[in-house]
Amino acid sequence: MVLEIENAQPLVMTIAGLDPSGGAGIIADVKAFLHFECTPVAVLTSITFQNSEAVFGAIHESGDSLRAQILPLIQEKRIAALKLGMMPTTEIILEIAGFIRERQLPAPVIDPVFQSSSGYDLIEPDAIDVLRRDLMPLARLITPNIPEAEILTGVTIEDEQTMHEAAERLREMGARAVLVKGGHLIREFGIDASPIEAVDVLHAAGGETVFRGEWIEAPSVRGTGCMLSSAIAACLGQGLSLAESVRAAKNYVADAIRFVQETESDQVSP
Ligand code: PLP
Repeated sequence: MVLEIENAQPLVMTIAGLDPSGGAGIIADVKAFLHFECTPVAVLTSITFQNSEAVFGAIHESGDSLRAQILPLIQEKRIAALKLGMMPTTEIILEIAGFIRERQLPAPVIDPVFQSSSGYDLIEPDAIDVLRRDLMPLARLITPNIPEAEILTGVTIEDEQTMHEAAERLREMGARAVLVKGGHLIREFGIDASPIEAVDVLHAAGGETVFRGEWIEAPSVRGTGCMLSSAIAACLGQGLSLAESVRAAKNYVADAIRFVQETESDQVSP
């Protein structure tokens, strides 16, 4: 007998990789879901081997394993929102796309995960084309950083104008909405500007929104892309609009970065 437990919280699913150190991936996703009072369910795409310094390797799940993880969950409960993180192989991407196309899973918030901050490839090169072709047209939102947006579109991003161009291109490729995150642009081009501004651009059916905030420098913070996309999915699961979800998620990540920055400055002060 299946015991149906009443659950007032929206059920939000992450399909992502395990970073055993907890800085990024599925652990960061679950933390964000809990913060926004959602009940997490988590489907694993890959076990990576890493610590705060580097990624040392990974063993990926198969398409069959993904199916076997997802089916029992969706047979029992309705998933209110879906976040997709590390999807390392063509097989995994096609399996997930099938579930979404058959409406067994909701349109996802996709965080394209291509490389770790330390430079380790987290997706096989041929899978990027499949992500672009088979998954992006199903996206509720896609949240690339600058290098990921450049790889997906071929647009060279140098400033705010080119961020908009890339966002438009990604919408033309079929994503319902696109959030291009300017963090990497600021790291490369704006370091001597004061105060440094963090700029993200959102393109959606309702128009364009530019989010501006103070850039908070905390080089050791990892997994901010995971946190942001999961927080957005959680807020969408709670019934917030897309723009409200992005705003709330950005505040959540800014607070997390500030917390690390304060902890680090406490450690260096005498
Ligand atoms: N490992 C996993 C499983 C991830 O999902 C991600 C990013 O999404 C990373 C590593 C990379 O994180 P970082 O950019 O902080 O190195």
